[in-house]
Amino acid sequence: MDRQEVQKLANYFRDKPAEEVLRSFLSDHGLHASNGNKDRIALASSLGAEDQVLTHMVLEIYPDARIFILDTGRFHSETYELIQKTMLRYGVHYEVKFPESADIEEMESRFGPELFYESIENRKKCCHFRKVKPLQKVLSTLDVWVTGLRRAQAVTRGSVDKVEWDEGNGLVKLNPLADWSEDRVWKYIKQNNVPYSSLHDRGYTSIGCAPCTRAIARGEDVRAGRWWWETPEQKECGLHAAGSGI
Ligand code: SF4
Repeated sequence: MDRQEVQKLANYFRDKPAEEVLRSFLSDHGLHASNGNKDRIALASSLGAEDQVLTHMVLEIYPDARIFILDTGRFHSETYELIQKTMLRYGVHYEVKFPESADIEEMESRFGPELFYESIENRKKCCHFRKVKPLQKVLSTLDVWVTGLRRAQAVTRGSVDKVEWDEGNGLVKLNPLADWSEDRVWKYIKQNNVPYSSLHDRGYTSIGCAPCTRAIARGEDVRAGRWWWETPEQKECGLHAAGSGI
């Protein structure tokens, strides 16, 4: 798929429902592999509400879909509970990716286990080794990745489209929920009895690593609980960085 084709698809799918976007890519673009190879399309799940919606949708369309989790090693215990619960509910086997132990050993030896509070540079370093590097490894096996990004989530996500060329990673990125509101996400979860993190019931709007995520107060921005000590413009971990087409 070249960039021109991606732009055409972006225009075509801009106002189409999330299920239609997913169904089309999961069945019509030759992304299913044969001969024991892996499919070239996968959902990246952070176990947040949007990704749980997409997990439900994707598995309804294609029960053998690839869904991967970047386990940073710093999740809340509630997140591990949700992984287990989701596996049992859908019979899904996640692809779980860990950071390289040598990277973490060296980083923590030099900068300590809570380096992320010391500077943005250190926070980005931790996100790089725990999330971005493992992600890049998975993306190298894909032509299309699916994410739960929504425009309303953050100032850094205002121009997210349903189909995009991810410049930084060199593949197509699908954001089927780009135009969904938070209310719509929760309505879908309740209507379909989709499992979700108990952290959401305690004021967490965004699920991330335990030391870098907190509950938010009424009226705060939905991503205010992530890296709350930084300004909104700085709040991306590199998975969805500006310059990567999103
Ligand atoms: S969110 Fe925090 S703990 Fe998780 S990878 Fe980034 S800096 Fe490290």
